[in-house]
Amino acid sequence: MAKVVMKFGGTSVADLAYISKVANTIQTVVANNNQVIAIVSAMAGETNKLIDFVNHSSSFSDAREFDAVVSAGENVTAGLLTLALHKLNIPARSWQGWQVPVKTNSIHGAARLVDIETHNLEAKFSEGMKVAVVAGFQGVSKENRITTLGRGGSDLTAVAFAAKFKCAHCDIFTDVDGVYTADPRIVYRARKLNRIAYEEMLELASLGAKVLQTRSVELAMAEKVPVYVRSSFSDNQGTLVCEEDERMEKRTITGVASSRNEAKLTVISVADRPGIAAKIFGKLSESGIVVDMIVQNISEDNRTDITFSCPTEDADKAEKVLLESRTDGLVNFQDIVQDKNVCKVSVVGIGMRSQSGVASQMFSILANEGINIKVISTSEIKISVLIDRKYMELAVQALHDNFNLHSNWATQHNE
Ligand code: ADP
Ligand code: ASP
Ligand code: MG
Repeated sequence: MAKVVMKFGGTSVADLAYISKVANTIQTVVANNNQVIAIVSAMAGETNKLIDFVNHSSSFSDAREFDAVVSAGENVTAGLLTLALHKLNIPARSWQGWQVPVKTNSIHGAARLVDIETHNLEAKFSEGMKVAVVAGFQGVSKENRITTLGRGGSDLTAVAFAAKFKCAHCDIFTDVDGVYTADPRIVYRARKLNRIAYEEMLELASLGAKVLQTRSVELAMAEKVPVYVRSSFSDNQGTLVCEEDERMEKRTITGVASSRNEAKLTVISVADRPGIAAKIFGKLSESGIVVDMIVQNISEDNRTDITFSCPTEDADKAEKVLLESRTDGLVNFQDIVQDKNVCKVSVVGIGMRSQSGVASQMFSILANEGINIKVISTSEIKISVLIDRKYMELAVQALHDNFNLHSNWATQHNE
């Protein structure tokens, strides 16, 4: 009997009616002689509500208790879906992370998976269980405390189960019917892709396309698990995230992504000599701040300005760390200026490896809309720019239109 992993996100289990619809979807798969591992998220909005409870309970937050609270949403869904399956006479039981167990390290709020034990589930499957309904997003540390895997972490749980149980693929059921050329909520002409390479999906996810959590794509790529993103609400063909093939290389740009969660900091008048950048970014990294884009201005009188971006929530901490380093005499600069009204817009595509001129085309498209670029970063398959936040939607739409991502061309080569 084959094992199938099916993951249902928050909107797919938003109320009891949706949960019973999910149970029907699972029933069809069980009827085809499969054993199902159903990974569930919290009902839509529940995790945010739980996070708010914690934030309003105490300004001093104990990360272990944070996880004890915010992991709870998934437990409710796991129980409710199991009850809906029982109603259909399907032998099912719910599993919380610690019962599997899903073992993680002890970094609460962003725990990393260590292992998933299979024997407890296997034993129940051999006793006749047809569906294991597993609470996504959560695990247990070696100190026996509940941990969570970071926002959107149920995707990671799903891919990890598919890898561990050697499933042929991992099905992610969500509120869109696949991965689109841009967020369909921003670009109404966005087109669904039939296939996308892991590498492209990884870039899109890390640049803001939240349809899949970044770490889940990383794991799928490492473990070679094909991921099929599809709708909970229709039988439309979804998107397969898989190894790249020559059809994908024909597209120069595969998608556009955007992220509001960006802040820009400029360190003004830093000494321009070897070792200074290492000190600045060394301090930031010691403090757990993930710096994304960096530019250094042309030096005048051996002084220069260094601009970098980081997640909005880390901007104040970054400023504090650098001001403290200045007080300690570690780095010397005149001032730091913060800008939280920025966003990042990116174009992604493996075809860029063999196509020149994409960057200049992108910059012209933005210039034609009167959008000023503040910072640029590139990799082999992506170009990102930091711009004023108020232009985010405009930029995404202009890039999508001018790179012709709405036309059939983008999808006809990937059937
Ligand atoms: P779930 O609750 O099922 O995990 P998410 O809200 O995390 O769902 O992810 C689905 C959302 O991702 C969609 O509603 C869509 O707005 C957003 N999204 C962003 N970029 C894309 C894209 N390129 N393709 C499809 N969806 C996208
Ligand atoms: N419920 C968690 C969140 O909202 C995990 C998930 O939905 O994947 O982030
Ligand atoms: Mg999600």
